[in-house]
Amino acid sequence: MIDLLNMTRAGLADYCLSQAHPAVHANQLFRHTYKRMSDSPWHGGFIPQRLAEAMKQSFEIKLPVISEQHKSAYDQSVKFLLSLTDGGKVESVLMPEKKRLTLCISSQVGCAQGCVFCHTGRMGLLRNLSAGEIVSQVYLANAWIAEHPGWLETVQLPAKSRVSNIVFMGMGEPLDNVDGVVSAIKILIDPFGFALGLAHISVSTAGHLDGINAIFEQLPSVRLALSVHSVDDVKRSKIMPINRRWPLITVLDRLREQQRLGAKGILLQYTMIRGVNDSEHDAHMLAEAIAGLDAKINLIPLNEVSASRLTCPDAVTIQSFRDVLHQKGIRVMVRYSKGQDIAAACGQLVVKAQ
Ligand code: SF4
Repeated sequence: MIDLLNMTRAGLADYCLSQAHPAVHANQLFRHTYKRMSDSPWHGGFIPQRLAEAMKQSFEIKLPVISEQHKSAYDQSVKFLLSLTDGGKVESVLMPEKKRLTLCISSQVGCAQGCVFCHTGRMGLLRNLSAGEIVSQVYLANAWIAEHPGWLETVQLPAKSRVSNIVFMGMGEPLDNVDGVVSAIKILIDPFGFALGLAHISVSTAGHLDGINAIFEQLPSVRLALSVHSVDDVKRSKIMPINRRWPLITVLDRLREQQRLGAKGILLQYTMIRGVNDSEHDAHMLAEAIAGLDAKINLIPLNEVSASRLTCPDAVTIQSFRDVLHQKGIRVMVRYSKGQDIAAACGQLVVKAQ
């Protein structure tokens, strides 16, 4: 059986044609799947009976289940633990903000990159998520929101609000799973699917150059969020092993080149770690390294995880670092992660391997 949630509308149109039916039926099937959230969209009489019968024989909707949910007492963000149909587990985090609902989603079960400050990295990589498993996270979050109108009231968002922004910053290095991520984005931005704007989706990467090339080939204006964390080659290789394969300088050059071709500004994420990357000298080096790049920097005070001895700098150190960048005319913000009390903040997502 084929998981319908793995199919882009173009793929479904091809299927309709292969069954000697017009491709346009894919539009209705998509609308019923994602807008009406039907779990058997081939029923309902809007496609020919023969096509509906063929689909019933070949397709299913494989939705994970929400096996746990934890709500933050501080900021009302909600962390979902999802059980996949093969028993694997991933997490996603729903974060209410002024006028928008952002969902942080996972792209892999675990992660192969092994960044030392990241809890997910300690799991190792178990497997990639399929496109269907990626979009399921949005599907299930929207279903949860619909079932909890009181939560929308608490976070002061209008009734019927649904996920409006997606960040691929949950478990996994998304660009280690480009095929799954690109297909999922196509479904998320499809006007008959989730109808989100591409500008409302950010794909985070630790600096996976092959993946950057591959995603720009298919989605040239996709918004990337590059995790920098240090511009010192030796230090960065120590905290982010991916730097040994693709040094930051090469990745930044590639991003400059894409911007010359018309790509949008990039978000740079910089997790601040006490005594590792938090000095004013580090801030000057960072400013120098990103010269000529249209970029905004988020400084993220480290979320301390119990398994690591790394700690977060004090507020004065963070402010001095920010001031150096600000004085150089760089757009910079200090962003405290949401959901810290439920271990849903950046680098804290982890589930036990099966
Ligand atoms: S920070 Fe991202 S890329 Fe690095 S180990 Fe964690 S999930 Fe993987």
